[in-house]
Amino acid sequence: MTTPTTPRTVLVTGGNRGIGYAIAQEFVAQGHRVAVTARSGSGPEGTLTVVADVTDGASVDAAFDEVERELGPVEVVVANAGITRDMLLLRMSEDDFTAVIDTNLTGSFRVVKRASKGMLKARFGRIVLISSVVGLYGSPGQVNYSASKSALVGFARSISRELGARNITANVVAPGFIETDMTAELPEAQQAEYKKSIPAARYGTAEEVAKAVAWLASDDAAYITGAVIPVDGGLGMGH
Ligand code: NDP
Repeated sequence: MTTPTTPRTVLVTGGNRGIGYAIAQEFVAQGHRVAVTARSGSGPEGTLTVVADVTDGASVDAAFDEVERELGPVEVVVANAGITRDMLLLRMSEDDFTAVIDTNLTGSFRVVKRASKGMLKARFGRIVLISSVVGLYGSPGQVNYSASKSALVGFARSISRELGARNITANVVAPGFIETDMTAELPEAQQAEYKKSIPAARYGTAEEVAKAVAWLASDDAAYITGAVIPVDGGLGMGH
């Protein structure tokens, strides 16, 4: 039987649209105190929106300060903000490579490092990193993106070993193709081609990713850490 989960203070980065928005919505529906970071726009109803750019450590720190003042110490953090800059290896500039690493990987580092302060003090924490099926599956034209996303696995597993004894878990959710602005940018022919390779024969929804994230943060998932949970319709089987 599922036990009702303890209400927590949750921070989701990039919660103004796409998967982050759906994650924030799910946490609100489950009765948590939820803040989102946004560079523009705002999170769903019932959330506190704070401005932050994950490529800027000072801006991340300021966002945490504000959330802590308004909602209390952050107990659950979801590092969701991410970008793509796709290009075949030979034509990929160093800037395309480092910009993606700086947002997806170093951005997660900035956010999780700041969150871990309060978590260590409270001797409680739930860290969820949003990776991608292509982190382990690979994808032509995405050496920057897939490198940034596979790195999150080692990152979460090292945190698990470092902070596990303090009642802090760190897990990775690896979505497959999810209907958001990010996938809408792909050419239609490429979208149809991708769909053929997904056992579930469809794209996933942001809500389906959100359910897995909220479960990892729940009391029921207290003994799960260092795990990679695919939400990909079977695309990446074998991870
Ligand atoms: P979207 O492009 O729809 O949204 C990306 C979010 O990240 C936006 O809120 C954006 O904010 C935010 N963001 C980007 N850069 C920064 C930054 N420097 N600082 C703060 N926020 C930033 O993407 P999705 O919702 O599709 O993706 C969310 C996560 O899920 C990403 O990490 C992505 O890699 C991952 N993912 C997505 C998949 C998909 O199929 N859609 C599949 C697998 C993984 P702003 O609005 O200000 O740009």
